[in-house]
Amino acid sequence: MTYSRAGRAAEQAEPEEERERRAAWEALVATARRTVTDGLVVGTSGNVSVRVGDTVLVTPSGVPYDRLAPEDVTGVDLDGRQVLGTLVPTSELPMHLAVYRATDARAVVHTHAVHATAVSLLVPELPPVHYMTAALGGPVRVAPYAAYGTEELARHVLDALAGRTGCLLQNHGTLTYGTCLDQAYDRTAQLEWMCRLWLTASSVPGRSPSLLTGEQLAEVAERLGEYGQRP
Ligand code: 13P
Ligand code: ZN
Repeated sequence: MTYSRAGRAAEQAEPEEERERRAAWEALVATARRTVTDGLVVGTSGNVSVRVGDTVLVTPSGVPYDRLAPEDVTGVDLDGRQVLGTLVPTSELPMHLAVYRATDARAVVHTHAVHATAVSLLVPELPPVHYMTAALGGPVRVAPYAAYGTEELARHVLDALAGRTGCLLQNHGTLTYGTCLDQAYDRTAQLEWMCRLWLTASSVPGRSPSLLTGEQLAEVAERLGEYGQRP
């Protein structure tokens, strides 16, 4: 029996798509586990997602990350309809999907990192204490409080993200996005570190931390384009 060229292409395309999805799920689970082992969340707090084509793979709601297996893959389309798996997707689906619809994000990380959450209780914006502020697009804003999992919270987060790749969620935590899981995760780690830095410096009695100017941040933003190894 001979196959048409289109038939053969369809046969080969399917496993490739599956392979990509399996690799993305593996990376998502590894990232979610890292948020726990690095102390950015406790228990099943936080959530992670990654976009593969028009499908968004997400952590299921309330499932410990060390229990997630390959067959637990959970995915939705950009309208939130479940297209993969049977576990209930993260309660923060509105927030994750809002970011994918409005930006070029390929991965989103949400945590309850303690220093970042502490800062969200104190100020409407993280003061620019370090040049890594520029790596997140400028001074990181705090999205006003709304209950977890709501469309209202998703709207506040999108507003706070304007021109930024990360924000804080008042009395709740952090959200960052990136072109891949590693980048989104690294931005969360940098954000948490900067929050710890500001809290440390501003806790010295009688002194207040020096801040970077818009000009200084713009200079760094330009330099960061050249940072690291050339391809
Ligand atoms: P999920 O377990 O539903 O992802 O919720 C955790 C969380 O951080 C809600 O904001
Ligand atoms: Zn949360």
